Amino acid sequence: MPIYEYMCNSCKKEFETLVLGGDTPCCPGCESKDLSRLLSRCGFISKSTGPGGESQVTASSASSACGSCSAGSCASCGVG
Ligand SMILES: [Zn+2]
Repeated sequence: MPIYEYMCNSCKKEFETLVLGGDTPCCPGCESKDLSRLLSRCGFISKSTGPGGESQVTASSASSACGSCSAGSCASCGVG
C-alpha cells in the first residue's frame, strides 16, 4: 500500500497517510493542501528487524511429524 509521509507547510505538522491514485491528501491538523512529501521510512514493513527479532522464521518445517503417518519417521517422509 502506498503510504506516504508529508509535512504540512502551513503548520509544520508531519503525518503519514495512505494515498490512493489521484487522491490529494490534506493536513489532518489544519486541512491545508500545501504539503511537502517526505521520503517514506518504510514503517509498515521493517519495524521489528534487529538483534533477537528474527527467531521465528525457521521454526516450523524441520520438527513436524510426517504428514502421511503418525510416527514422524517412515520411508516416505525420509525423516528417520
Ligand atoms: Zn497543517
